[in-house]
Amino acid sequence: MSADFDVIVIGAGMSGMYQLHRLRDLGLRVRVFEAGDGVGGTWYWNRYPGARFDSESWTYGYSFSEEILAEWQWSEHFAAQPETLRYCNFVADKLDLRRDIEFGCRIAAAVYDEPAGEWDVTSQDGQRARARFLITAIGPLSAPTMPVIPGVGTFRGEAYHTARWPHEPVSFSGKRVGVIGTGATAVQAITEIAKTVGHLTVFQRTPNWCAPLHNSPIDAVTQARIKATYAETFARCRQSFGCFIHDADPRKALEVSAEEREAFFEQRYREPGFGIWMGNFRDVLVSEEANATITEFMRRKIRQRVKDVHLAEKLIPTNHGFGTRRVPLESGYYEVYNQPNVRLVDLRETPIERITESGVDTRGGHHPLDMLIYATGFDAVTGAFDRIDIRGRAGRRLRDKWADGPRTFLGLQVEGFPNLFTLVGPHNAATFCNIPRCIEQNVDWVTTLIAHMRERGHSRVEPTPAAEQEWLQHVHETGRRMLFTRVDSWMMGINTNVAGKQTRTFIVYAGGAPKYREKCDEVAAAGYAGFVFG
Ligand SMILES: Cc1cc2nc3c(=O)[nH]c(=O)nc-3n(C[C@H](O)[C@H](O)[C@H](O)COP(=O)(O)OP(=O)(O)OC[C@H]3O[C@@H](n4cnc5c(N)ncnc54)[C@H](O)[C@@H]3O)c2cc1C
Repeated sequence: MSADFDVIVIGAGMSGMYQLHRLRDLGLRVRVFEAGDGVGGTWYWNRYPGARFDSESWTYGYSFSEEILAEWQWSEHFAAQPETLRYCNFVADKLDLRRDIEFGCRIAAAVYDEPAGEWDVTSQDGQRARARFLITAIGPLSAPTMPVIPGVGTFRGEAYHTARWPHEPVSFSGKRVGVIGTGATAVQAITEIAKTVGHLTVFQRTPNWCAPLHNSPIDAVTQARIKATYAETFARCRQSFGCFIHDADPRKALEVSAEEREAFFEQRYREPGFGIWMGNFRDVLVSEEANATITEFMRRKIRQRVKDVHLAEKLIPTNHGFGTRRVPLESGYYEVYNQPNVRLVDLRETPIERITESGVDTRGGHHPLDMLIYATGFDAVTGAFDRIDIRGRAGRRLRDKWADGPRTFLGLQVEGFPNLFTLVGPHNAATFCNIPRCIEQNVDWVTTLIAHMRERGHSRVEPTPAAEQEWLQHVHETGRRMLFTRVDSWMMGINTNVAGKQTRTFIVYAGGAPKYREKCDEVAAAGYAGFVFG
């Protein structure tokens, strides 16, 4: 039996959409299966109040199409989710993508049929399809997690996970709302909800170091400049470590005087976006001493902004330095705690004991609520893989292969799983990136490899065990000097709400996008060294 398709892509977010477009250009028969009812991935699912970019909008959109760049206008420097979802739909219309996407279809299993050399894919409702190539575009932050707390599910009021937010408007007015979590999503949601809420209770386990976003509308003059300088902007992104317009300052933190350092931090704190994280002194994320200087600066900022001195101390992280976990960007987050109708519950002092029908019981007492919001994040990077039963040669499960941490070649292929490509997968630079910039690199590279195989009549590609081992060593080497590898976070594979994810394993790539691109290009230039074709 010949396969139904040449390529099956799972997921129709920014990765899957672009991958579909590129493969169609090769004249391949492609089918995309998407669990949601529309395109956009992250921007389809995360409709919670306050959801918006931390990337500058005009650096985030696709760069490959002059037409899309010319026609699309971002209204703000950091667009809110509805606008980004409109953008994804605009691209889908422009490229006529939907005719090859099956929506409302969650893939449950993908099994490699070795004799046929095909992937056999099964959806949750039993639908099946086959293809020579399988490309996962399932997202680094797409598998939401609920907290492991007794009584979850018993609450009788309104309850929402931020990544499964309803499509209808939700009102907070006059209501007692509780938010569990204080990560990047929670920081955005709390700030927005606080504007209209009756009473807000924030349940905080681990505070994060948050920095100002400084969003603003894009005026006509700036719009024209953005459009005229897209090529320069994308070139600048290509050269920076994380493909942002921000890149590290060439100086070390302790090389300059205390006054100069303070002035520099102030300047970064006043500027929009991730400059304070990605554009700081070049050693603040690798040297404890350098990191202590920015951490102290950020500590002072929190103390200045939160009026109640005891509350300010609760909001100051004590278990990690600035920038060693994902930095939430905020627009008035700390000032929320100056409102009389907002209460912070420090779960380190009074842990949650259970969720009840009427609210949350902590060791300090009962918190009656009308609405409970789980801002408890994602089973990051490998989570979406774990939710599909992926089996390669000889029935080997990907989940088992990755039980002690992911193993890949270039973060794009896995030994034992021929013709499977993992866009934005573990150990891929895209996990630590202004992601669409890395998505375009991932997709272009995979597309070129598939074209290469067609030209030479190859039907099968798989990395060698040696290439995979070498990549693993390189990935761990890139992480060794980074301070974030000494801290529990999703980047280190930790999720206390997921069984088996309590031990640190490095799941991202910390060598920077330019280095990663160089490595991928070297492999291709050497005739795909490290891969075996059949
Ligand atoms: C709230 C939020 C804000 C963010 N802000 C930024 C930002 O400012 N800058 C930045 O660079 N990145 C940001 N990100 C990261 C964001 O995920 C990426 O930028 C990008 O959207 C990833 O695109 P993707 O297509 O790879 O994955 P996703 O957008 O996650 O899409 C994956 C798709 O795969 C589908 N899928 C998964 N599993 C299955 C299955 N088994 N069967 C069928 N379909 C499946 C999902 O439904 C989803 O639609 C943010 C993430 C979140 C959650």
